[in-house]
Amino acid sequence: MSSAKSGSFWRSLAFRLAFWHTLVFAVFSLSAFWIFYSARRSMLQESMSAFLELLARECARSFAHGLPALEAEIASVTEAVGTHDIFLRLLSSDGQVIASSDDAAWTGLEVDKKALSRARPGAAVFDTVFYRPQYPARVLYFAVGDGRVIQAAASLTEENRRLREFRILFGAAIAGLTLFGAVVVWFTARRTLAKVEAVTNTATNISIGSLGSRVPLTPASDEIDRLSTAFNSMLDRIQMLLRNLREVTDNLAHELRSPVTRIRGCAETTLTGSENLADYRAMTASTIEECDHLLALINTTLDISEAEAGVVKLKPADFDLAKVVRDMCDLFRPVAEDKAVLIREEIPAGCQVRADREKIQRSLANLLDNAIKYSRANGSVAVSLREAEAHVLISVKDTGIGISSQDLPHIFERFYRSEASRSEPGNGLGLSLARALVRAHGGDITVESVPGAGSTFVVALPKPG
Ligand code: ADP
Repeated sequence: MSSAKSGSFWRSLAFRLAFWHTLVFAVFSLSAFWIFYSARRSMLQESMSAFLELLARECARSFAHGLPALEAEIASVTEAVGTHDIFLRLLSSDGQVIASSDDAAWTGLEVDKKALSRARPGAAVFDTVFYRPQYPARVLYFAVGDGRVIQAAASLTEENRRLREFRILFGAAIAGLTLFGAVVVWFTARRTLAKVEAVTNTATNISIGSLGSRVPLTPASDEIDRLSTAFNSMLDRIQMLLRNLREVTDNLAHELRSPVTRIRGCAETTLTGSENLADYRAMTASTIEECDHLLALINTTLDISEAEAGVVKLKPADFDLAKVVRDMCDLFRPVAEDKAVLIREEIPAGCQVRADREKIQRSLANLLDNAIKYSRANGSVAVSLREAEAHVLISVKDTGIGISSQDLPHIFERFYRSEASRSEPGNGLGLSLARALVRAHGGDITVESVPGAGSTFVVALPKPG
């Protein structure tokens, strides 16, 4: 492993997860084991102490009947329990042995003078000693009267052996479990982080230009898969937005080319044509007209972008929408009459809304303009207003050329114009702007159309408060 690779291994999340998990697991297991082990050891010690005290009290009772009675008691107890496991002797106050059980197995056991001097009638003094290496014993000094003290010792060798076995067993179990846990965490972390790595790789691929790159999904459908799905959807959306942006830029460039070419043509004609003031004026007027057209195009595109990005500055005010719709109909009536189109109104007396009046007027103007523009002579446009549950609905219904089902999903896109409408003037921005402005108010525009029979556009604006 190269040093860079090994460095990244120690820093890797998988290693750190496995390391900390193992450490925490080991510390907690060892603490739990230590608490359990200590409790068990002190329990054993206490039961041994209680046993020794019981024996010492029995001996004290026997000693009350004289030394022979005590000697008999000592002999019977040690015989019953085993001379290797228990040892009893009667000591004088200066530590001289007066009577003793078989001491063959207890040769190393000494008399602790301090403990001996501390022994009082009824008060036991306990100690744990090693009477030979590896041979521990619990020892009791118990005053039995007449300055005599019973020294009772019980071997802890067997208990210690059991405790050692217990330690080894648990130690091995904890070590095994810790190792197993570390391996499991390592592999789980590696598997999970491999998916995170896939997200990173995809992001890297995208940053170097491979926009079609996507995170591979697994059937596990876990949190990382959900993140990957969200990440992929975000990429799809970004790609779609980029495509739209490219389309808009292409369309804009295309739309700008014609007026700019015309302006250039005007300028060239002025330069090379007759030096006549009237001609100059006519050319200048054409140039201004083309420039206005260009400006309108650019401003509308910017207005749509602002409205779609949600940064448009609305000036909301309370006003009577019924009056505004009626005024709009009156405004467009002369244009409609020129085309022999009848505008019919179905507008109730009053309808208060809170919105940016100018922006709503602009949206309605686009819909009315289209309705008249795409109507045939002797057609009609019905404009109605009604209140629904949460919205106010304005409907603009015409009996015009209608929109084909292929065109219908695209008519709100910037610069989109159907084949059928190319004979009419327009730039394909009107509906995009109308919908963006209505959406900026929290409303929407929907459309239904029957080719050859007409279209109905419905503007839904949210009711105030
Ligand atoms: P423009 O009218 O300038 O072409 P719009 O954005 O207003 O641009 O409309 C986009 C397209 O939707 C139009 O080119 C036309 O094909 C279609 N359209 C809009 N309104 C109507 C209508 N009332 N009847 C038929 N077609 C319509």
